[in-house]
Amino acid sequence: MKDTTHVTQFSDLGLAKPLLKALAEKGYKEPTPIQAQAIPVVLQGKDLLGIAQTGTGKTAAFALPILQRLAEDRKPAPRRGFRCLVLSPTRELATQIAENFKAYAVHMGLSVHTIYGGVKYGPQMKALAGGIDVLVATPGRLMDHMAEKSAIVSGTEIFVLDEADQMLDLGFVVPIRKIAAQLTKNRQNLFFSATMPSEIGKLAGELLNNPVQVSVAPQATTVERIDQRVLFIEAQRKRPLLAEILAEPGVERTIVFTRTKRGADRVAKYLNAAGIEAASIHGDKTQGQRERALAEGHSEGHPPDDPVLRPSQRQAAGCGRGRRRQAGPGREVRRPAQG
Ligand code: AMP
Repeated sequence: MKDTTHVTQFSDLGLAKPLLKALAEKGYKEPTPIQAQAIPVVLQGKDLLGIAQTGTGKTAAFALPILQRLAEDRKPAPRRGFRCLVLSPTRELATQIAENFKAYAVHMGLSVHTIYGGVKYGPQMKALAGGIDVLVATPGRLMDHMAEKSAIVSGTEIFVLDEADQMLDLGFVVPIRKIAAQLTKNRQNLFFSATMPSEIGKLAGELLNNPVQVSVAPQATTVERIDQRVLFIEAQRKRPLLAEILAEPGVERTIVFTRTKRGADRVAKYLNAAGIEAASIHGDKTQGQRERALAEGHSEGHPPDDPVLRPSQRQAAGCGRGRRRQAGPGREVRRPAQG
């Protein structure tokens, strides 16, 4: 592999002008380690096995070179198909990935869409009909479209499997194998996972062809860019302390992880009663409720000290991971358990 140890600029990685412009507009100054390692490999058309967690910049590590490859060899996407397929374990993550692709592709004129469950089929079928450059999908809904022949995956040139270990947790390994079985052999594969349990290693072995492996964190370690604190406290003091911390100046947008769905609802209720605006999202909420909660948490104009998103662990893994926030002294920032 090319020595990337001295690379400090995106332009050193061989990225084209429209991408460099988009990156400058996003305010990215230099590539993260996973980007420095992965981008040249993907640009060369090689298969990649990336061991990296959310928060490391891994989305751009695959999105940037994929967009460049698609733009270098421009052609119409196959009808009811897509040139690049990214599989993601959750709707929230699929949306985040697609937003990243769109932001990086802003000067390139490539189409990016998402397909996931919990919403109507009609608009998805319409988007698929004419062909899409980059499709980000969750496995279940994509399988539904394949069964209806509204999605045909055989023309896919680049296949990305993101958060493979979470896919395993959510029972998606069988659907992934079924989808992959319909892809052309002559494709580029990118496979990302934070951890490598043996079943994921086996899946990677089946899907990847002579991959280059890049790794930015050893298995099951924490992400360096997230500052973490642990507070030891009696159970009954937890909520009042949380309310106190959230009322501190400078606490603008917060995600709190709880162990159970009911716990998430209870904490949100407690905070609302304490005058702190909070919403909960978890598997029992409708897609509309989740999207509203996320939109509130993401909106720029939100007053400080207010919104709290409170997903249960599994939901949190899809929507909240990767949102960085500095923890102050004595502040607790908890991350969901690794798959
Ligand atoms: P990811 O691990 O892909 O979820 O990315 C984590 C966060 O880092 C996202 O909010 C990205 O927009 C941001 N990010 C990715 N690459 C860079 C970079 N090179 N410089 C600054 N921020 C970045």
